[in-house]
Amino acid sequence: LTQLFRPLDMLGMVYRTIRQGLIDMAEMFRLLDTEVEVPDRPNAPALIIRKPSVIFDNVVFGYEQDRTILHGLSFEVPAGKNYAVVGPSGAGKSTLARLLFRFYDPQAGRILIDGQDIRHVTQASLRAAIGIVPQDSVLFNDTIGYNIGYGRGDATQAEIEAAAQGAALMGLICRLPKRFDTEVGERGLKLSGGEKQRVAIARTLVKNPPILLLDEATSALDTRTEQEILATLNRVAEHRTSISIAHRLSTIADADRILVLNEGTLAESGSHADLLRQGGLYAEMWARQAAEAEALHEAAE
Ligand code: ATP
Repeated sequence: LTQLFRPLDMLGMVYRTIRQGLIDMAEMFRLLDTEVEVPDRPNAPALIIRKPSVIFDNVVFGYEQDRTILHGLSFEVPAGKNYAVVGPSGAGKSTLARLLFRFYDPQAGRILIDGQDIRHVTQASLRAAIGIVPQDSVLFNDTIGYNIGYGRGDATQAEIEAAAQGAALMGLICRLPKRFDTEVGERGLKLSGGEKQRVAIARTLVKNPPILLLDEATSALDTRTEQEILATLNRVAEHRTSISIAHRLSTIADADRILVLNEGTLAESGSHADLLRQGGLYAEMWARQAAEAEALHEAAE
């Protein structure tokens, strides 16, 4: 019977996956076993990473022919640095992430990882190099161990345990009746938003990618859980190159550099302190969010 229900589970998961926007599409394509939109070049080599820098070089992109979304976007994230991308709704933040994962190719310009144009390497190697911690991750109706190891079929139990440790999941797992063999998901134990996010972090740790793409990883969590998850993510990002796409500025104030996108161009860039001093778009967004937080705080009292 389990065999029979698995395809149904999968359809449910694919539906949820599509609904979420930027998610782990590579997983979805693998599940559906479909052709990806952008094909590999014949005999494309694998991406080789020594120093995982990311460069957007004059990238022009639009989903439709007559509507350009990114207008010649250029920036460099040096290897090992943690950068954040912020900007008003519709500025092109998620689009940038989709291009880096090569769901689409730019109409002009290039995207380089460690000096290699991502159009020239295999997609499998590109996607293996980038770990995504999505907004809302999907759990399979399977054991928590399976859910953590998912994405790297050859992960050993020791690696799964180390990842659970790194994602601060061991406290939870030790309380579970069958520990790593406990069934989770819709038909098993229901995990909270924060716990699900920790499973996503653990999955990323098992994959061990040199580059991390964090998609507003702390949405829909209470402040304390958010702080705990942020601390875990900061630890995970420490020795990697990371790009965080953030809506709430409070979560990325200590990024090495903040890129402020506006209408598909780089409007400002600098540290939190630099950008506040500049008194431009970022400073304005910061002031607005601070006022909103203050109002919420007062309403709660
Ligand atoms: P938000 O903060 O609201 O998530 P964003 O900065 O991530 O916004 P994007 O999702 O990158 O913005 O969208 C940039 C623009 O591209 C928007 O005008 C959006 O309507 C458009 N867009 C996004 N996805 C598609 C798509 N699949 N087809 C056509 N247009 C799209």
